[in-house]
Amino acid sequence: MKTYAITGCATGIGAELKKIIESQGNRTISVDLKDADITADLSTQEGREKAISGICNAAPEGLDGVITVAGLGPTVEDWPLIVSVNYFGSRAIIESLKDLLVKKKGTGVIVSSNSAALPNANEDLVKVMLEENDEEKSREMIKSLSGYDAYAGSKLALTRWMRRIAPVWAGEGVRLNAVAPGATMTPLLQQGLDHPEYGDAIRGFTVPTGDFGTPEQIANVIVFLLSEQASFCCGSVFFVDGGTDALFRPDQF
Ligand code: NAD
Repeated sequence: MKTYAITGCATGIGAELKKIIESQGNRTISVDLKDADITADLSTQEGREKAISGICNAAPEGLDGVITVAGLGPTVEDWPLIVSVNYFGSRAIIESLKDLLVKKKGTGVIVSSNSAALPNANEDLVKVMLEENDEEKSREMIKSLSGYDAYAGSKLALTRWMRRIAPVWAGEGVRLNAVAPGATMTPLLQQGLDHPEYGDAIRGFTVPTGDFGTPEQIANVIVFLLSEQASFCCGSVFFVDGGTDALFRPDQF
């Protein structure tokens, strides 16, 4: 039986991932604002510490995997909160659980977004997150930008962070990868669809394969990345978006 720590599994992609992992006879340690083994708010330092110490107590023998799914969408009105959860919360969890991953030569998967690869990211904000690792400054900066900048910027910074450390951690037996979903039918997407200003634009998203994705379609790719079958995957970003990224950026990969 393997042990996986998962953030953000009360609903959506994380809930589906938890269900699949447990159905395969493995154990999960879940972290979320509600309906989780460890109830913690990953937007705060105290919440992150509670999550990390809870996971360390629950799995002192080590972890086979850590998956940071918890995240907020671009239509959340508290833009600093998006930055805190999506970047600083995810980074703190993976970084702090490294020793537990090393113990079992485990695997980390971050949940990014296909919007992280779009060309209009706010690079100044990304730099403050990635290079300076300054949460207060990032939270202050985003106030004069937008929810989209917070969302795409935090996912871009997190993905670059993962790619920078993946080759280093690989030397200690830990593989890190990212999944970059496109529009997937979850409460997060529903919040966007219900938004009076952005709802129509989201309904108009082009998905070459047809419909929006399902949480299961994303979770299945995460399960693959956690498995032995993916033992040569390291530092990769897997777009699971029905072809949207290929449509918009055919020449970049
Ligand atoms: P969701 O809203 O169903 O799930 C997000 C989960 O994160 C929830 O369980 C929520 O309670 C938890 N969470 C939010 N804030 C938290 C906090 N402060 N502390 C702890 N947990 C917190 O949405 P989802 O679509 O399943 O999102 C999962 C991930 O997928 C997110 O990182 C999101 O950015 C990413 N993503 C989603 C889509 C999409 O279209 N659904 C597209 C690209 C990327």
